[in-house]
Amino acid sequence: MQRTTAEWQAIDRQHYLHPFSDPKALHESGTRIITRAEGVWLWDSDGNRILDGMAGLWCVNVGYGRRELVEAATAQMTELPYYNNFFKTATPPVLELSALLAEVTPPQFNHVYFSNSGSEANDTVVRLVRRYWDVLGEPQRKIVISRWQGYHGSTMAGASLGGMPAMHAQGDLPIPGIVHIDPPYWYGLGGTLSPEEFGLNAAGWLERKILELGPDRVAAFIGEPIQGAGGVIIPPATYWPEIERICKKYAVLLVSDEVICGFGRTGRWFGCETFGFEPDLMTIAKGMSSGYLPIGGVMVGDKIATVMIESGGEFNHGYTYSGHPTCCAVAERNIRILRDEKIIETVAADAGPYLQNRWRELADHPLVGEVRGIGLIGALELVKDKLTRGRFAPLGEVGTVCRDFCFQQGLIMRAVGDTMIIAPPLIITHEEIDELALRARRCLDLTAAVLGIAN
Ligand SMILES: *Cc1c(COP(=O)(O)O)cnc(C)c1O
Repeated sequence: MQRTTAEWQAIDRQHYLHPFSDPKALHESGTRIITRAEGVWLWDSDGNRILDGMAGLWCVNVGYGRRELVEAATAQMTELPYYNNFFKTATPPVLELSALLAEVTPPQFNHVYFSNSGSEANDTVVRLVRRYWDVLGEPQRKIVISRWQGYHGSTMAGASLGGMPAMHAQGDLPIPGIVHIDPPYWYGLGGTLSPEEFGLNAAGWLERKILELGPDRVAAFIGEPIQGAGGVIIPPATYWPEIERICKKYAVLLVSDEVICGFGRTGRWFGCETFGFEPDLMTIAKGMSSGYLPIGGVMVGDKIATVMIESGGEFNHGYTYSGHPTCCAVAERNIRILRDEKIIETVAADAGPYLQNRWRELADHPLVGEVRGIGLIGALELVKDKLTRGRFAPLGEVGTVCRDFCFQQGLIMRAVGDTMIIAPPLIITHEEIDELALRARRCLDLTAAVLGIAN
């Protein structure tokens, strides 16, 4: 039904509760209604055209409007809209997708559990690593170590693994058996160390924590290759190889949460390939279906899969929609588009370097303390003092001002505190990257003007 923006907003106020939103504030400002999309562009109910610099929520990797994905869903829904995979049953799409995932993931991965989201997949990870150690006769290995400013979802286990104090504060989190270390955030925590030294130090915090807890009690370490929602924290090159070495030393399972980095964001299929480490488990979601339908999963490395299979016994875990046939059919088609159209190779050789060059030009802006990025993900740190990395107070106010200017200027760019972040669809063209950089600079200028800072 076609309604006016005001009518949609009235319904929104009366009936709808938004995720991660302050309803009172939202009711005062009114909701933006997005009505259609094509490529990297969104349109709202007032007809404004907006460049989606965040690919939805880091997920629309192949861009909006791909007919093949609509057709894959239609064909599957016509043939078999739903059936479950419990009780000795499977469907063709779940098997086709499993085999394709084994092809595109690193060689140690040949098995997958499906979920409907990244959060559910991380819940699966927690249960799975504990089950693995139980089966191996080390039931005391229960603790999962993760990082402050990590994001692993919004379920009880996902929010607990995450390192967001505001989330922990609601609902008595984290749940028992999850502990956090500081992130490899060189700009925020690195002080005077070189990035390489800092990366080794930051990895050392893991070893210190393992020793403090007792290595025989630690089941796994989980981290995003790049911490996305925490502010696009990109670790120094020394970090991940050292983390991998420490995990091996204490037989701690290594889990890469690839929900954002997976399926091409960094210019390789998976972030662990970009950063050069070999995880035992990988969480996948988001770009797996480019967000056209909800699906996630856990890639299970051979080391763990072999134990789970050969030990016998049931893993008492699963969801009604684990491996939903329509979601699987769409995810399979999406992954084939990424592969057949060489979209990830293009990110690595062309779109990524082009975006990073344009992005780095923003470093000369008086508000920008650091520009960082890789592939098609990037961040700008807005600071009061470029030399000392001095922040504005209270943190987040300037970021929100800038974010609001972005909305107004037709660009979706998110603010995490005073860090502005982008992760556009992987099919973004040079012209669209130029437009993104142009609009970003305009928003920085408008923000500086509000603060009375001269350009
Ligand atoms: C979004 C996200 C999740 C959670 O996925 P949902 O599908 O929102 O449940 C988990 N991990 C990372 C790294 C994410 O970015």
